[in-house]
Amino acid sequence: MSHDFSIARLGEATIPSPIPYASEKGTDMANYVGDDERIIFNPALSRSGSEHPVSGQGLLEVAGPRRDIYFSPGHVHAGVITCGGLCPGINDVIRAITRCLWYRYGVRRITGLRFGYPGLLPETAEPTLPLDPDVVDDIHKIGGTVLGSSRGGGVRTAEIVDALERLNLNMLFTIGGDGTQKGALAIAEEIERRNLRITVVGIPKTIDNDFSFIERSFGFETAVAEAAQAVAAAHTEAHSAINGIGLVKVMGRDSGFIAAHTALASHEANFVLIPEVPFSLEGERGLLHLLERRLDARRHAVIIVAEGAGQDLLPDSSESDASGNRKLSDIGIFLKDAISRHFADRGKPFTLKYIDPSYMIRSAVAAPTDSVYCSRLGNNAVHAAMSGRTKMLVGLVNDHFVHIPMAVAVSRRKQVDREGNLWRDVLEATHQPMQIGPA
Ligand code: ATP
Ligand code: MG
Repeated sequence: MSHDFSIARLGEATIPSPIPYASEKGTDMANYVGDDERIIFNPALSRSGSEHPVSGQGLLEVAGPRRDIYFSPGHVHAGVITCGGLCPGINDVIRAITRCLWYRYGVRRITGLRFGYPGLLPETAEPTLPLDPDVVDDIHKIGGTVLGSSRGGGVRTAEIVDALERLNLNMLFTIGGDGTQKGALAIAEEIERRNLRITVVGIPKTIDNDFSFIERSFGFETAVAEAAQAVAAAHTEAHSAINGIGLVKVMGRDSGFIAAHTALASHEANFVLIPEVPFSLEGERGLLHLLERRLDARRHAVIIVAEGAGQDLLPDSSESDASGNRKLSDIGIFLKDAISRHFADRGKPFTLKYIDPSYMIRSAVAAPTDSVYCSRLGNNAVHAAMSGRTKMLVGLVNDHFVHIPMAVAVSRRKQVDREGNLWRDVLEATHQPMQIGPA
């Protein structure tokens, strides 16, 4: 199956880029990226048991500065907005966007929009925050987002575009997850209907690493590093007690990438539970029995559970949050109670330590690798916007920064393939069976 990776543009790029690289080096514009440069989406010749749920061919536009741009820098008024949950590296992205606009293109009107889409709605409008290199100088040293974030309000597209018009913006950078980028696409479509010249470029944020088509989302490596510390603590606790059990809940609503990578990073987990692989508690092959056997053999055990795992075992929650996301029931607490009950009923001494580091991870400062990645995403987003590209995200595919149409990027999620090599390596590291519970 092939994907349409063509990128929309506001119009022809006819203005020479002010970026001086080329003339300084005296080379023939070697640092500009040609509009015809592409990379292949799927380099595999034949795949069986593909780790990517999305297979197929397609050519992706290479990101980077263009020789000719669409916007005259003096006319640009850029807005930056952050929506959804926190993720390490958001401030790094805001900083890169601001600095690239300012120093590379000479843009002087950059406006931080506060507290996500609701901050643009009439009844919850927030004062904006002017951004310049001084304002963003140190923000990469703190976690969270200096602009504030929120959920909800995104579907009121017409009112949001009214606000963009009122603010006189002609460039919008949307830093956020699937919901944010669906909202951004709707905003871009409304802009098109109104015949406005406003570009919308997204920087995909998902701590779970579940954006399709994108190799690695920013913040993911930081999340794994922080989660691994929680697992190390859980392991130390478990190891120091009689029948000690360490239970760590990590992020991963629909995809278990953080749990899987954390298990591989720490080598201390005996069971990893992820949304993609159902499990059960009871029976000879159920989690409780397997855990008991592990304790009999080694007297301590560590379990990593992704927040979206085992939802079928829990009472159904029909509630949604302000953005319409289904509220998950707490699998961590549920497991803690079930395990405690199991051993208490058998009169077996045990100690269970439950660690939920989610908010500490989400608000962490980005690790150096993520910081580097965020800077480059931010820069490439600016180059794309200046060239007049719109309705697109920047991302990393096959180690290249590329442009991905928003519509394609939000069309599905990436998940751990239970028959793929990542999960195979996790099973290798944990020695847990392929199937926990009845086959
Ligand atoms: P994360 O899930 O990683 O926290 P997210 O971007 O998915 O990030 P949400 O809270 O789901 O976070 O959405 C962020 C914003 O996008 C909210 O303001 C929400 O109203 C808006 N939004 C969500 N889904 C849509 C949609 N289908 N169309 C328009 N706007 C949407
Ligand atoms: Mg989301």
